[in-house]
Amino acid sequence: MPISLYLHIPFCKHRCAYCDFNTYAGQEVSIPLYVNALCNEIKSLGHHIPQLNVQTIFFGGGTPSLLSAAQYQTILQTIHDEFDIISTAEISLEANPGTVSSGYLRDLYLLGFNRISYGVQSVNPEELRMLERIHAYSDVVDAVTWSRRAGFRNINLDLIYGLPEQTLERWQHTVKLIMGLHPEHISAYALTLEHGTPFGRWAAKGLLPIPDPDLGAEQYEWTMQYLAEHGYEQYEISNWSLPGRQCQHNLQYWHNFEYLGIGAGAHGYASGFRYSNVLRIKTYIDRCTSSRESGLPFPLTSATINHHKNTVREDMQETMLTGLRLTSDGISIMGFSTRFGLDVRSVFGDEIGKMTNYGLLEIVDDVLRLTVHGRLLGNQVFMQFVE
Ligand code: SF4
Repeated sequence: MPISLYLHIPFCKHRCAYCDFNTYAGQEVSIPLYVNALCNEIKSLGHHIPQLNVQTIFFGGGTPSLLSAAQYQTILQTIHDEFDIISTAEISLEANPGTVSSGYLRDLYLLGFNRISYGVQSVNPEELRMLERIHAYSDVVDAVTWSRRAGFRNINLDLIYGLPEQTLERWQHTVKLIMGLHPEHISAYALTLEHGTPFGRWAAKGLLPIPDPDLGAEQYEWTMQYLAEHGYEQYEISNWSLPGRQCQHNLQYWHNFEYLGIGAGAHGYASGFRYSNVLRIKTYIDRCTSSRESGLPFPLTSATINHHKNTVREDMQETMLTGLRLTSDGISIMGFSTRFGLDVRSVFGDEIGKMTNYGLLEIVDDVLRLTVHGRLLGNQVFMQFVE
């Protein structure tokens, strides 16, 4: 089975007030050493086993568009040296619209990138200011225009709904305006007020209005209907695409298939191991720059700080948690029994029965999936499958 690669780029120009990702502002001076460390980790993984087929590569962050095209050339060459990248591989970059130029996008396309994902979040200047984003909507328009000119035919735009004081009309305006850019893919996530972020702290002190969950549900339901009317298929709880343009990399996660996580704070799942890497940039660089071998089995490297060998039961639970996010494909009953040698209805009979009775899950032919109502209550459904 081909594998996927996720490479984490933990640098941002400014840390947005709602963000709890593993990313750091003002450390761009470390980028050259970090690129070197990433290449060392790739080599360490590649040396462990014979050449693996790679079907997707995803650079996420942070702000991957802070690395230069020359640095991506070095990283991609190292991946080519250690793995077999299949000819149809999806190679994606997450980008902040305020950090790209026409020439940069052309260079990335020539290097083999074929999918780009922009963090747009909103078109409203006040909302962008509140989120502390460094871009304006005009930067998004430029970025998409330049991406098209460079050759990109697979563009995702990320949006956030359920913002404090965001009305339904304001959210509708954001969605309608970005539709004018004709993206192949749209992701729309509800804002979550995470502990340890400025938003989380302000909300706890009553300085930030807590978004109304009923309004968030209304925004989500409107989005499902509006995007369906405009030819976008919802294939995951928070993701829509034009036909054939689903994100292949994320499908690998949702099908609970293997991927290698590379870089500071990256997570991976391969050879039965769930693992994660050290978070801090400097520690990651130190660990990946020294020549010591980890002595650990594939896919663990000297950057790994946590690992856990999954039991079959845990693999089955995780397959439920990720697969039920797929609103159309869901869990294939036959696929589950081919993989685990057991019928999903016998392993999780009680949970499936309960959720089906509540009208949150349905079985259609070979597929177990959320109902339309169940999409609004996904977390409650997923919790049933975790002991
Ligand atoms: S640009 Fe993205 S990763 Fe960076 S701080 Fe903002 S939300 Fe977080």
